[in-house]
Amino acid sequence: MATELTHHTAAQLAEGLRAQQFSAVEVTRAHLNRIAEVDGDVHAYLHIAGNTALATARSVDAALAAGEQLPALAGVPIAVKDVMATQGVPTTCGSAILKGWVPPYDASVIRRIKDARMPILGKTNMDEFAMGSSTEHSAYGPTRNPWDLTRIPGGSGGGSAATLASFTAPLATGTDTGGSIRQPAAVTGTVGVKPTYGAVSRYGLVALASSLDQAGPCARTVLDAALLHEVMAGHDPMDSTSLTGQYPDVVAAARRGALGDLGGVTVGVVRELGGDGYQAGVRQRFDEAVDLLTAAGAKVVEVSCPSFTAALGAYYLILPSEASSNLAKFDAMRYGIRVYPKGVDDPTAEQVMAATREVGFGAEVKRRIILGTYALSSGYYDAYYGSAQKVRTLIQRDFAAAFEVADVLISPTSPTTAFPLGDKLDDPLSMYLQDVATIPANLAGVPGMSLPAGLAEEDGLPVGLQILAPARCDDRLYLVGAAVEAALTSRWGGALLDRAPSLDREAV
Ligand code: GLN
Repeated sequence: MATELTHHTAAQLAEGLRAQQFSAVEVTRAHLNRIAEVDGDVHAYLHIAGNTALATARSVDAALAAGEQLPALAGVPIAVKDVMATQGVPTTCGSAILKGWVPPYDASVIRRIKDARMPILGKTNMDEFAMGSSTEHSAYGPTRNPWDLTRIPGGSGGGSAATLASFTAPLATGTDTGGSIRQPAAVTGTVGVKPTYGAVSRYGLVALASSLDQAGPCARTVLDAALLHEVMAGHDPMDSTSLTGQYPDVVAAARRGALGDLGGVTVGVVRELGGDGYQAGVRQRFDEAVDLLTAAGAKVVEVSCPSFTAALGAYYLILPSEASSNLAKFDAMRYGIRVYPKGVDDPTAEQVMAATREVGFGAEVKRRIILGTYALSSGYYDAYYGSAQKVRTLIQRDFAAAFEVADVLISPTSPTTAFPLGDKLDDPLSMYLQDVATIPANLAGVPGMSLPAGLAEEDGLPVGLQILAPARCDDRLYLVGAAVEAALTSRWGGALLDRAPSLDREAV
């Protein structure tokens, strides 16, 4: 029973809870047991909040027994990325500098999850301050890919993606500044969505690059992602960039898409994303997905977005610039660890700050702070930051032109499947290249989804298909994504994750 419950989709769990086929406590326990069984190997979690999760589950069971009307996902457990401030639960953002920090408040998105009465199982591992594509930059050790424990689960949200792929959570949250929801989804055979910028409140998220950061849902199916998207998104007066006005019904779109009819939908294949530098098996699965879209009735056209080739360069100026400013608040005075310099009797505040940041930040974080400080320094600002902002405008124009002819755009999510742990740690540039296809969406603020497209022939590992839509048209991701998912599931005779090697003790 326990295993069965952990292999249900969130939609199935919600339905079963409502029909009282099982209780929220049983569901939460099953996941906590599964964590105890397999997370020693995967290391997707940094903190487990078993008692509070069970307390939430108990209150849901009581409410169900009393016949109360409850939110759609009440009693369905969730894992949350450690970038989200969670009251009473340690929140480290994968960094040593925040070791032991227990926030006195909830991020707005956590508040929404609590209001939805979803038991929070724990906090998931991530690259320090969400900088990375492999979760190896976590100060607490890497997460391993459930498909192959010697490989990376993607990053920065590798922990969240790995909870889904190892069935230790049915749903998880992520944040995507340059691809940290979509790339982990791609390499773990799961679904991840970066909503339109401003759709999900940033209040209470540890900021990386404020003009790019966006939280979103991680799930095993498109419908599950839509159900969580609905919980997470919504206007928040605490975030000045929070969207107002009408937001599309993503759940209805996912249900419509699952019927498999894409008649009247035009899909644009982005010429600049998917050619040289992409693994052969990734391209093969992508080409097959294009055929499936055509078979579902979509019109497929090629579009060109020439400025996308400059996206990575622009991103690595804009992101470090914003990050260097955002991370200035880790000053050893207000919260987090404090380190006194050795051999200094009466250190100044500046010396304490320097000693703390020296010990508290990892190499990648320091690299980006230096890069950002340099790009913003007087005399260089126009040449670097200013030019990058101009590229950003060009990318937005490319998107606008492409969406004149296509309703959605598609590409592979990531150029490769999961690479071996340690492979790119000493080569930041090749790590950065993992996000070459995901970054344009962040620079333009448009929504994007990654969903499984199959397994690459050469290594048997998951490949992701990326779908992009115009701002505020997140529903289109779900419509097209659900149609692709339905076509692929019937071709494979089941979900992709059913083919993942078992993580049960004996098998490891
Ligand atoms: N891998 C990208 C980076 O290292 C994306 C990070 C993110 O989306 N948080 O910046």
